[in-house]
Amino acid sequence: MSLGNGKRTANREKRRELREQLTPEIEVIKDKKLIKEEVNRRLVSGLQTLSLEYDSLFNDQKASLNKDSDLLSLLFHRMFFYRLNEKLSGLTCDHTLRLTDQILTQMQFSRGKMNEILEIFKKNGGNCDCEIIYNVESQLIGK
Ligand SMILES: [Zn+2]
Repeated sequence: MSLGNGKRTANREKRRELREQLTPEIEVIKDKKLIKEEVNRRLVSGLQTLSLEYDSLFNDQKASLNKDSDLLSLLFHRMFFYRLNEKLSGLTCDHTLRLTDQILTQMQFSRGKMNEILEIFKKNGGNCDCEIIYNVESQLIGK
């Protein structure tokens, strides 16, 4: 006897999850007041709520080459370098870490953590405020 009923409708339903590649358009804020608020929020609490144009400067691949990329990336996303640039603009660097100290204090790092960060800056050629921009931030941004 043939098992005629056994028509296997081998409907291998390829359940293609049509996951539309969600590429949400990142809306970058332009409003100066909002930018300022976001920068301060990130500096003080580390909380990221809005996207800034500055974020797109970050080069993940490039940054990951640095041995201390975790800490340096954190500082980038918490707007440390952004604020340092801001503070330095219009000034001539006095070749101290005066502004860096101010910002790290505002970010509420412990003294121990601050020393750790300063060591990493030095190791990467950042011995003063301007060198931190030229030698350290440059390792995280651009091509
Ligand atoms: Zn300098």
